[in-house]
Amino acid sequence: MALHGGALRLNLLVSSRNLYKFNSLIGVRSLSEKVSSKPESSSSSETTSDHLIYTQEHFALKETLRKIIDQEINPYVDQWETEGKFPAHKIFKILGSAGFLGVNKPVEYGGLGLDFSYSVAVSEELGNIRCGGVPMAIGVQTDMTTPALARFGSAELKEEFLLPSIMGDKVACLGVSEVGAGSDVSSIVTKAVRKGDEYVINGGKMWTTNGIQADWMCLLANTSEGAPHRNKSLICLPMNLPGVHIARKIEKLGMWSSDTAQVFFDDVRVPCKNLIGQEGMGFTYQMLQFQEERLWAVANIITMMDNVIQETIQYTRERKIFKQPVLYHQAVHFRLAELQTELELLRSLLYRATALYIKGNDVTKLASMAKLKAGRLARELSDSCLQFWGGMGFTSDVLVSRFYRDSRLLSIGGGADEVMLGIIAKYMDTLPRK
Ligand SMILES: Cc1cc2nc3c(=O)[nH]c(=O)nc-3n(C[C@H](O)[C@H](O)[C@H](O)COP(=O)(O)OP(=O)(O)OC[C@H]3O[C@@H](n4cnc5c(N)ncnc54)[C@H](O)[C@@H]3O)c2cc1C
Repeated sequence: MALHGGALRLNLLVSSRNLYKFNSLIGVRSLSEKVSSKPESSSSSETTSDHLIYTQEHFALKETLRKIIDQEINPYVDQWETEGKFPAHKIFKILGSAGFLGVNKPVEYGGLGLDFSYSVAVSEELGNIRCGGVPMAIGVQTDMTTPALARFGSAELKEEFLLPSIMGDKVACLGVSEVGAGSDVSSIVTKAVRKGDEYVINGGKMWTTNGIQADWMCLLANTSEGAPHRNKSLICLPMNLPGVHIARKIEKLGMWSSDTAQVFFDDVRVPCKNLIGQEGMGFTYQMLQFQEERLWAVANIITMMDNVIQETIQYTRERKIFKQPVLYHQAVHFRLAELQTELELLRSLLYRATALYIKGNDVTKLASMAKLKAGRLARELSDSCLQFWGGMGFTSDVLVSRFYRDSRLLSIGGGADEVMLGIIAKYMDTLPRK
């Protein structure tokens, strides 16, 4: 799992991509020297020498990203949450110039050419952003809209859509869910009908993250009348084409800084060369793409849960009730101990799935288990921790209340808990036989 060529390669990539604007702060040399120090918010298991999947290079990457988060993102999160949108083009340009939008993407298209464990490390670090909306929008760009394009897209298509997405010049969105089809992806009705050397697209997409700001969509559409798993294709769809209508920005319970759109397509004409890979393989490509999406989401929320526990410990240690800190009541510190234990179990599952994935294994079952557990744990953890904050937990001034709202999505989006259970049961061969 060690990076071939080690620190030298990362440093070369890093310096050649001007990863450091932050050079003056830490410097490329000091980057490798500092990597053995423990990242601020990570679990106690995270040291360079004994980490299960991370090397010095992973920690170097995380440390640099943390500086960007602290300087360019976190100071503005409250404002973006209030405005219901963050400036995706500006933030993606900063992250793209620094190499963070394509750590595991091919070098020839601007990526760092590293394995997926680096994506997991980046996602973990993005969990230090003080809301769920901004990391989700970044994850959509890096691990939800672009994996299939990077793997199966033509060179021309990668040049046009992948490279600028990795460099932060284009914002991407993923068009899978529809008004009548979320969990049941096979039942989408958006059609792309071949006419000459173009597809004519009609239909619509629902709950599209980044949809208001996106330059292109990775669209799943039916390209034939055949069987539902064989009639779908992934197509790169520029969002500025005639016939693409942003119907509305959807208001939500949480994830306020991430814009969510409903989009309609009315005779949108896209060149057939915008097809990703083979026609009819879109469902399969999308299912593959989901593996990375799910592991990415788990890594991201693990850091958030860690941070919420730490801040809850800090607050309950200071807040006194009945002449002693809230934390000293056994019900409180026992519950926190239990939640931290569950969190560490989840982290182990994530690292195991990641290690197997980068060795080329199909980890659909483990990734689904991790996603299921992460969604459920986030609901339990946010509820318990918020309770320990008392009235403060119900205010908008603290991370725990934002996490309570934002994290609720994980059990629904990207495959609901019940969809995960169905996949796990299928792998266990326990589904009723037809
Ligand atoms: C904030 C946000 C951002 C999103 N971003 C995107 C995006 O960028 N791109 C995109 O394509 N989609 C996106 N989605 C859509 C998301 O993936 C879907 O909402 C999700 O897949 C669930 O689909 P649905 O909402 O249609 O729920 P439905 O499919 O209607 O399911 C409703 C409920 O039924 C239950 N259920 C589902 N399957 C089963 C089963 N087999 N057995 C028993 N019960 C079951 C579950 O409890 C589920 O929550 C986003 C959604 C939200 C809310």
